[in-house]
Amino acid sequence: MPQLTRSAELFEKAKQFIPGGVNSPVRAFKSVGGTPVYMAQGSGAYLTDVDGNTYIDYVGSWGPFILGSMHPRVTAALDYTLKNIGTSFGTPIEMEIEIAELLCKIVPSLEMVRMVNSGTEATMSAVRLARGCTGRDKIIKFEGCYHGHGDSFLIKAGSGALTLGAPDSPGVTRGTALDTLNATYNDIESVRLLVNENKGQIAAIIIEPVAGNTGVIPAKPEFLSALRELCDNEDIVLIFDEVMCGFRVALGGAQSLYGITPDLTTMGKIIGGGLPVGAFGGKRKLMERVAPLGDVYQAGTLSGNPLALTAGLETLKILQDENPYPELERKAVILEEGFRNNMKKLGLNYVQNRVGSMSCLFFTETPVVDYTTAITADTKKHAKYFHSLLDQGIYTAPSQFEAMFISSMHTDEDLEKTITANYNALVASGR
Ligand SMILES: *Cc1c(COP(=O)(O)O)cnc(C)c1O
Repeated sequence: MPQLTRSAELFEKAKQFIPGGVNSPVRAFKSVGGTPVYMAQGSGAYLTDVDGNTYIDYVGSWGPFILGSMHPRVTAALDYTLKNIGTSFGTPIEMEIEIAELLCKIVPSLEMVRMVNSGTEATMSAVRLARGCTGRDKIIKFEGCYHGHGDSFLIKAGSGALTLGAPDSPGVTRGTALDTLNATYNDIESVRLLVNENKGQIAAIIIEPVAGNTGVIPAKPEFLSALRELCDNEDIVLIFDEVMCGFRVALGGAQSLYGITPDLTTMGKIIGGGLPVGAFGGKRKLMERVAPLGDVYQAGTLSGNPLALTAGLETLKILQDENPYPELERKAVILEEGFRNNMKKLGLNYVQNRVGSMSCLFFTETPVVDYTTAITADTKKHAKYFHSLLDQGIYTAPSQFEAMFISSMHTDEDLEKTITANYNALVASGR
């Protein structure tokens, strides 16, 4: 069992100066209990904490590390930029064109793109643009989907908000809350109902085309195509929030996997290769309304800075050069089948949802297709499971409602160790 002495000391100190000791809520281990682990170093698929314990990492900085941490090509590129270019100018740089052009080539819906610094900025900007273009105020999102911490989205959001049992946040105005309507994931009738009740008032429908913040929930293809049709008929801007699933489930994101083209796409996580980057883009007709070309204001002092773009651009180039997706799928299948065999041996029948290298083991036997079915999961069992894995050197997200990510750096040996640990952890979680 790993000792977490130093982590515990640091956490005590952190709580004096940082709210809850952390700079992002889910890191605090609130839903699983215990001390958050302070990491000291990351390399490939492995993490080392401040007490010297090592872990196989399935969080990957919450998604960005599809190539693992410190990929040699990414660190070499960062090194070059630091030594030869600089960290920020606040002027246009050539690299911005390079990443924009590459993104438009890779992601089917993109004709123009604007770089920002986080997924939250991307979704906030995309919704403003949709409102500006349609002259309408309301948006529809889906229960359990997370789109960052923008006011409009903190209504029945997944992830941290869900884990902490605070789906609505104080500080979000009533007006904002009233402009956000919640539909049920994978249920087109719930969307039609809202659209009909608010005829001509819906600016945008925003959705994670693979939901990853209520555990992992794949969208049914016929649901997404029905959404596309509904948006076309009602002149509603369809926004795919691919901050997590973009470049993860396929190079071109969920939209290329499902063959459905949204009007706008938001990106983050992998696109920054471990540095803070986000982006939003889509149809030229809409993107031409973004300032300074158009009247919808959006800006950022550090947007498109060379250091962050270097990590993102190099990551995208590696994904393009190496096409790691078939190999990621192979590994993901090994893990999924290993977990399934373990459950069979133990007489358990928990649900596993997976799209490519993002997956989730839900502590429920109810098929998970939306928020309501996701929260049937037994979070107490998950907490025991999580701590058993941690004790065995397997680092997964400290929440039932987060994805498990495989990177191209996980070896078959890592997967075997993880499958063994999964068996022990399932036993520890109690039957
Ligand atoms: C992580 C995430 C966001 C928010 O991105 P940040 O970079 O944390 O602001 C938005 N949407 C989805 C789908 C995400 O997974």
